Amino acid sequence: MKRVLITGAAGFLGSHLSDRFIKEGYHVIGMDNLLTGNMANIEHLFPLKEFEFHYHDVSKFVHVAGELDYILHFASPASPIDYLQMPIQTLKVGSLGTHNLLGLAKEKKARMLIASTSEVYGDPLVHPQTEDYWGNVNPIGPRGVYDEAKRFQEAITMAYHTYHNLETRIVRIFNTYGPRMRVNDGRVLPAFFSQAIRGEGLTVFGDGSQTRAFCYVDDLVEGIYRLLLSDTHMPVNIGNPDEITIKEFGEEVLKLVDNPKAHLVYRDLPKDDPKVRQPNIDLARKVLGWEPKVDRAEGLRRTYEYFKTVVERQE
Ligand code: UDP
Repeated sequence: MKRVLITGAAGFLGSHLSDRFIKEGYHVIGMDNLLTGNMANIEHLFPLKEFEFHYHDVSKFVHVAGELDYILHFASPASPIDYLQMPIQTLKVGSLGTHNLLGLAKEKKARMLIASTSEVYGDPLVHPQTEDYWGNVNPIGPRGVYDEAKRFQEAITMAYHTYHNLETRIVRIFNTYGPRMRVNDGRVLPAFFSQAIRGEGLTVFGDGSQTRAFCYVDDLVEGIYRLLLSDTHMPVNIGNPDEITIKEFGEEVLKLVDNPKAHLVYRDLPKDDPKVRQPNIDLARKVLGWEPKVDRAEGLRRTYEYFKTVVERQE
């Protein structure tokens, strides 16, 4: 049985990845310090002998007993609100945490996959974003703590690949959504869904003309799984290229939730908020034979079911 360590296992993506690797017949070692993770996301895995959980902060020395075939580093605060509130932890998990895990991967002769992000492109001047674009990032702005940690993470991962011959994979993840997103993480989809369900104003930042392209979580997990097993050590974008303005996105959520009290309200645009974002996924198509399968209408329906239950339980 192959053994995989997944950091951030109690988080949104980490928990879906844990499910997938269990389903594929792996032994999964989940690790999390629960800074932004939620045990409810992985509670269903605890009865399984194929799953074990380690409560640990990967910014500190990481030890795992026994062999490891793969390490997936998904621990990090991941929403702009989170990294405003936890800037130092965000920098540490992307830098020190990545260094510790690369050391572990080298020791165990494991293949290491890191969760990078479209944020490495910053407020992009190339659109859609291809992997060979170097980005437009403000290192000292509010997003700098995340963006630069992730850029450093890519740099150190490539260095281990080059100098230590470590097998490494780099996925650049674009906006992803689905069940288990934290309701109050401040990101646009949880914000809009919870506001619409409660019959409040959906807080559109700026005039809502900025764009994003949203990928359903199952599609992302499939892309990551394929990338891990591929022989591609260069960064690969995984995301859904179906781009939409934030205002139109708010209107879609309003229509789906259909709460007569809900409506759009406008708030100041946060500093350094990227004006556009859309992945170019030609490389993923070519080297992984991957493209997203779940369109936004279907993905939003599935996600709404989740938020309905969680938001109503909170009331
Ligand atoms: N946004 C918004 N209202 C919210 C939260 C976010 O209009 O309540 C906007 C935000 O300004 C950005 C987009 O939605 O342009 C996506 O924001 P999110 O925080 O989800 O992630 P980002 O893609 O910026 O990292």
